[in-house]
Parts: sequence; C-alpha cells; structure tokens
Amino acid sequence: MSFRLRGVRAGYAGVPVLDGIDLTVPDRSVVALLGVNGAGKTTLLRAASGLIPLTEGTLEHDGDDVTGLRVEDLARRGICHVPEGRGVFPNLTVAHNLLLFAKPGRHDEALKRAVDAFPRLGERLTQLAGTMSGGEQQMLALARAYVQSPKVVLLDEVSMGLAPKIVDEIFAFLERLAAEGASLLLVEQYVERALAVADVVYLIDHGRVAFCGEPQELANRDVFAEYVGAG
Ligand code: ATP
Repeated sequence: MSFRLRGVRAGYAGVPVLDGIDLTVPDRSVVALLGVNGAGKTTLLRAASGLIPLTEGTLEHDGDDVTGLRVEDLARRGICHVPEGRGVFPNLTVAHNLLLFAKPGRHDEALKRAVDAFPRLGERLTQLAGTMSGGEQQMLALARAYVQSPKVVLLDEVSMGLAPKIVDEIFAFLERLAAEGASLLLVEQYVERALAVADVVYLIDHGRVAFCGEPQELANRDVFAEYVGAG
C-alpha cells in the first residue's frame, strides 16, 4: 500500500523539468518535498496527480500501474491534488464547490464532513467562493479534497500568503488528515513546520532527488543549508 513515482520525467512543451524522479509515499505517512524555487516541486505534484503527462517513468498506487490515468480517475482512486493557487470555482457557492467533488448520493455526508473539518465554511455555504478571504478559500480547497475521503493528498504550498492563525488551523487539519490514515505529499514554504509533521523528506534539486531520508537526518547535513537555507 503506497504511492510511487519511478523514473519519472516530465516537463512543459518539450522542456524537461523532472529528470528521473524515484519517490515513494508510504501508506499512512507524511512526506515533505523541499527544494529551492524552480527545483521542480510543483511539476512533480502535477505529474503525480495526472495533470501533466509523464514523458518517461511510471506511477504506481497500491501495486497497480496508474501511469497515464486522468486526474479525475486518479482522484477516484483517492489520489487528490490541492493545487497552488487553490483552484476553487469563484463564481460557484461554497456548497456547490464541495458538491462537485462529493461522491454521488453522498452530498449531505460530504457537506457535514467539510463543515466538521472547517466550521467557518459552514457559515458560508451559500456564499460565492470568490468573495471569501484567501484563508477561507484555502480551507475550501482542502475541504474539497477531504470530502473525497482521500488516500493520498498532494498539497502545494497550502499555507502560502496566509495569516499565522490560519496557518495553524491548516496544519491542525493536515495532522487530522494524517491521523485519519491519509498519506500526504507536502510542498511547504514553512520548512520547519513541514519537517515537524513529516516522516520522510525528499530534497529536489534540478528535477532530481538530491536527498531522501528522515527529517532528523536532513537537519544534520550540509545539504540542508545548501538547498533550503537554515530552515
Ligand atoms: P517554486 O517553489 O518557485 O514554486 P518549484 O520547485 O515548484 O518552484 P516548478 O514550479 O515545478 O518549481 O518549476 C520548475 C521549472 O519548470 C521552472 O524552471 C519553471 O520555470 C518551469 N515551469 C513551471 N511551470 C511551467 C509552465 N506551465 N510552462 C513552462 N515552464 C514551466
């Protein structure tokens, strides 16, 4: 039971970014993905979620080859992407945004689940998503993944630009998600916070894995200072 990228190459319009990535998200674990700007972290999450095609390599989930599946097919298997920039539909209500991602016939359950995770969304179900604050929109983006009962959640800078109190709420939610048994692949600007919740850390440099190990190991190595600063 795991989610794996093997020998993954991918890029944009023929320009390679990922240069043979081997990465495993073990069952029930949190994996932090670190690297400087432009290292390829977002591209890796997009390739892993089926948003961009692989030019080489494979994706495996629970032992099945899922390479080439579309983003919605991967989501149906429980592999959910929370993209950079949130990607909520601004002209739809909060409830509508959630229900688009709910399982058929499970609408009430989905709304209950979302509101339980983020009570603030419960007060705003009829509000247009685009009129909410940045923090509320981020909660909605996370809740949309949550209502799908995800097994693997790919999270791209979900605390970006948010007030410290909201960042605390979001990290508390990520811990809850992990405690409920989901695996997380986390790209996060708050390196120390990411390392505090991570079981495994990967450092990406120029589209390759420069380091893979436990967070404590990384903290003791020069490679940490070299690629991500003092943290
Ligand atoms: P950051 O921390 O700045 O978000 P990152 O590690 O997530 O960086 P990526 O966004 O994956 O890095 O970018 C890796 C490389 O791919 C960069 O050189 C970037 O310019 C390029 N790139 C990203 N998106 C596109 C795109 N849509 N079209 C063309 N090139 C892109």
